[in-house]
Amino acid sequence: MENIEEKLVNLGYKLTKPRVKVLRFLRKTSSTPYSAQDIFKKIQGVDLASVYRVLALFNDLEIANEEFFGKEKKYCLATNPHHHVVCRRCGKTKMVECDHDYGNKFQNFSDIRHQLILTGICNKCK
Ligand SMILES: [Zn+2]
Ligand SMILES: [Zn+2]
Ligand SMILES: [Zn+2]
Repeated sequence: MENIEEKLVNLGYKLTKPRVKVLRFLRKTSSTPYSAQDIFKKIQGVDLASVYRVLALFNDLEIANEEFFGKEKKYCLATNPHHHVVCRRCGKTKMVECDHDYGNKFQNFSDIRHQLILTGICNKCK
């Protein structure tokens, strides 16, 4: 995969502090999706409005996935198609690869995307 910083620069986006910090955070936590609020609380020196703007940009550029968990929008790096399994007791998440292929099963639709929320009980909570 193309280096994300390079991708931004090649597309004409400057590597501003909020972009770099949000990116670094998403990379560090790649198997767990976080909401803008969560990210805002966990990184220092970037205001909430900037976090929202950066996430919207990353979503547009397909650097980050926007995923809905209930009513909450959460973000994670757009690595290979994947799903998250969420522990029903503690909320711990794990990423699993997606092997669904809806490619051309729907007539008159293209660019099919899907989301799936899986829940379970993690080993710690069992
Ligand atoms: Zn994800
Ligand atoms: Zn658990
Ligand atoms: Zn899938």
